[in-house]
Amino acid sequence: LGDLRTALEVTGGVAASPDAGGGGRAESADVPQLPGAGEIRMYYQPQVAIDTGEVVGVEALLRWRHPDRGMVHPEELIKAAEHTAVMRLLTRRVIDDVIEQLATWRDAGLPMRASLNVSVRDLHSGDIVDQIEDRLHRYGLSADRLQLEITESALMADPRRVLVTLSRLSRLGIAIALDDFGTGYSSMQHLRRLPLSEVKIDRSFVLGMAEDGDDAAIVRSTIELAGALGLRVVAEGVEDERTWRKLRAAGCHVAQGWFYGRPMPAEEFGVWLSRYRPPVLQETRTEPRAN
Ligand code: C2E
Ligand code: MG
Ligand code: MG
Ligand code: MG
Repeated sequence: LGDLRTALEVTGGVAASPDAGGGGRAESADVPQLPGAGEIRMYYQPQVAIDTGEVVGVEALLRWRHPDRGMVHPEELIKAAEHTAVMRLLTRRVIDDVIEQLATWRDAGLPMRASLNVSVRDLHSGDIVDQIEDRLHRYGLSADRLQLEITESALMADPRRVLVTLSRLSRLGIAIALDDFGTGYSSMQHLRRLPLSEVKIDRSFVLGMAEDGDDAAIVRSTIELAGALGLRVVAEGVEDERTWRKLRAAGCHVAQGWFYGRPMPAEEFGVWLSRYRPPVLQETRTEPRAN
């Protein structure tokens, strides 16, 4: 999308009446609230293998810098756009940006893997598969460089159509992660029926697990369940060393959080990566001897 502002304005007019299948509503007040060209960009947050400390990928996260309001929280933007045709344009832009960035990193000798978030409406048609296939082909990237994250609530709207799209993606070799696990509905059904590779434990459980025994129990049993089903488990919201240690002891595969790195622009991620040193487990420092 060369001129996103024009594109979004055009679609914004249409968006006042929700497009087919959404079941949601769009306030026309949302329309002037949508981003213009150059106001949105992707940030990248590292994902680290817990046992080796190796950086295994990044999650791409949308950032909107509003000319007057400053940084707008992505959830606010997604909520405004989700039931309108604008969502598709945003997602298209995200996919284009992320795949182009993967090619840039690859060309710089940095083969990265990226995970991006999609909304329910993006999965109601096969357009997203066609676009991804086309861009991967254009840049000569293999499908295993890319993963899509979906949320459980997103699956409720039209599970059959969503499943068709997910199966196509999966056949292409694109991994699917179930995001925010534990906060939605029918989690077990989803684990059984969807072509998943990964489960991401919601950060609300991870943030509390160092202090709260219930949160820790939920995290531990999710790790065990996902592991038994052959799924990779990622914990998001890992903010400190204690949480990292607990996750490590529980056998969690991958962690993402401020303890390792915040979401950052692509150029900054390159600098972060060149300076990155894996955390070292030092048993004696925080576990004092008994005698
Ligand atoms: P998410 O996909 O679950 O993303 C993880 C969120 O956790 C991100 O919030 C990230 O910045 C935050 N986070 C990461 N590490 C930590 C930590 O250690 N502590 C705390 N407190 N938070 C941490 P963010 O970037 O604000 O995104 C919020 C949500 O907005 C995302 O949740 C996702 O659902 C949605 N979103 C973001 N970008 C996109 C996008 O491109 N497309 C779609 N459809 N949704 C997006
Ligand atoms: Mg996510
Ligand atoms: Mg999440
Ligand atoms: Mg979320």
